[in-house]
Amino acid sequence: MLILINRIMAQKTLNENCPVCGNQFQEAKIEFCPQCHWEIIIISQSASQGLKNFYSEKLKRHKEIFEQTKKLNVVASVKAEQIEKLEKLKTELESKNKTLSSDLAISNDELKKIKSKATEIENSKKKISDLEKEVKTLTRDLKVCRQGNLDERI
Ligand SMILES: [Zn+2]
Repeated sequence: MLILINRIMAQKTLNENCPVCGNQFQEAKIEFCPQCHWEIIIISQSASQGLKNFYSEKLKRHKEIFEQTKKLNVVASVKAEQIEKLEKLKTELESKNKTLSSDLAISNDELKKIKSKATEIENSKKKISDLEKEVKTLTRDLKVCRQGNLDERI
């Protein structure tokens, strides 16, 4: 069990494996595993049973926490992937929304133009109807005038 290190004997860590994560140490003098942050301590064989038990328990706890963290990291990376997908979808929808809004603006513009044309047509119809009434009146007046002339000649 490689928790058997004191700082002076730290060069022994080279090419040893971390008791927590199995990472192989590439440097001779490191105090913490770069992967799981386990503190590397060599305890001599002659150390008291109490100390050995203490570090044995500490190692067990650290392993549990490391495994839990690993699982949580997997969950977190899945969540991060989901978030990324949703962000992408959101961007796509925003882009679509912009296009639709622009289309709608164009449609509204066209609708305004059509309404304006319809008003123009209505006004023209009214003018035509007014003119027709005027023509009728003038025609009647003309008839009366002709009749008057005719009557004068007789
Ligand atoms: Zn480690």
